[in-house]
Amino acid sequence: MLVVKKFGGTSVGSPERVKHVANLIKRSVQSGNKVVVVVSAMGDSTDHLVSLAGQITNNPSPREMDVLLSTGEQVSIALMVMALNEIGIDAISFTGWQANIKTTCVHEKARVLSIDPKLLLNALDEGKVPVIAGFQGVAEDNSITTLGRGGSDTTAVAVAAAIKADLCEIYTDVKGVFTTDPRVVKEARQIMTVTYDEMMELALLGAKVLHPRSVELAKHYGVVLKVLSSFDDCPGTEVREVTDMENRNVVTGIAFDEDVAKVGIIKVPDRPGIAYKIFGSLAEENINVDVIVQSISPDTNFTEMAFTLSLKDLHKALKILEVVSKEIGAQGVVYDDKVAKVSIVGAGMGDRPGVAATMFKALADVNINLQMVSTSEIKISCIIAREDVKKAVKAVHDAFNLDKEGFSCG
Ligand code: ASP
Ligand code: MG
Repeated sequence: MLVVKKFGGTSVGSPERVKHVANLIKRSVQSGNKVVVVVSAMGDSTDHLVSLAGQITNNPSPREMDVLLSTGEQVSIALMVMALNEIGIDAISFTGWQANIKTTCVHEKARVLSIDPKLLLNALDEGKVPVIAGFQGVAEDNSITTLGRGGSDTTAVAVAAAIKADLCEIYTDVKGVFTTDPRVVKEARQIMTVTYDEMMELALLGAKVLHPRSVELAKHYGVVLKVLSSFDDCPGTEVREVTDMENRNVVTGIAFDEDVAKVGIIKVPDRPGIAYKIFGSLAEENINVDVIVQSISPDTNFTEMAFTLSLKDLHKALKILEVVSKEIGAQGVVYDDKVAKVSIVGAGMGDRPGVAATMFKALADVNINLQMVSTSEIKISCIIAREDVKKAVKAVHDAFNLDKEGFSCG
């Protein structure tokens, strides 16, 4: 089997962990697999690099940030190859550019354009284990780029797609994907398989286990992903297209996101082009909005507009909206920076009635007020007060009996 194994920061967080992972790779090679390795920077070394830059300037050049941040992974590949050599495994390191990982030239959030797998495949043919630096690539102008924080997952999937690997294993410090964060709900259970779409929603809605872009890429190229722990010998969670069509989960998991703010525009004149004016001006500044609600008001000449966005964008958004609100003749802008989003995700909820009602009842029973709701075929998100988030997740987890389904390892 041709397999890509990606190891995250905690999995290579110390020399002992690097040696442990090298042994794990050795076992896989000895059982006949061809293995390509992708690694993250050790532990929180990327955070340290960020803070170093912060001690020099508040306004670092994005190009130089990428030069700086990409060094973390370069440390890991060298140490990993040394550890492999030490136990008799032939291996060779590749930085992003050496592995021909071409990206867009958008520093700090570049996207992978292509990977020429020739050198990697040559190394494999020579019986070597290629060890690739995650998170980095090279742009057309030859500058070093990085893929955005947490981007090594995306490197791993892109490499797996380029070399047509049978499997891409993402090793982390948790046993797999859970019905919700076990630190919040101790009854949370591991999920054995999850579809690409469910995983993408869970990742986008706040589950931290995989980089959302890596799941999108895996779906596009049909790369089977496995999330598993480098600390325990457990089977992990598989992310793939579901084959069991009639047996889709109504609710697979619950995600929550505390990085949310709510903004409302009051007494917005109700005429064509207004929503475009509001959201167009936010989009121009690269601000993503999420749940959008436009409500009916008793006066048909006006409407109320509310939406959510990331807390870190709130300040910038308010500045823009003050101006836009005057231009369109609305009454004003209000906001709440103490909200959170709780979402249920399940590929089978679309054609089953009563799912939303069950969620709303669970929240009502613990006296939680719903501020906004948004739904799609496979998810329902509720905006609630941030102080209620843990209580909400527990109640909803209970209501869908997620503590009784799923799997528990060790
Ligand atoms: N080292 C980078 C980060 O901490 C990339 C990664 O870990 O995936 O964001
Ligand atoms: Mg990481």
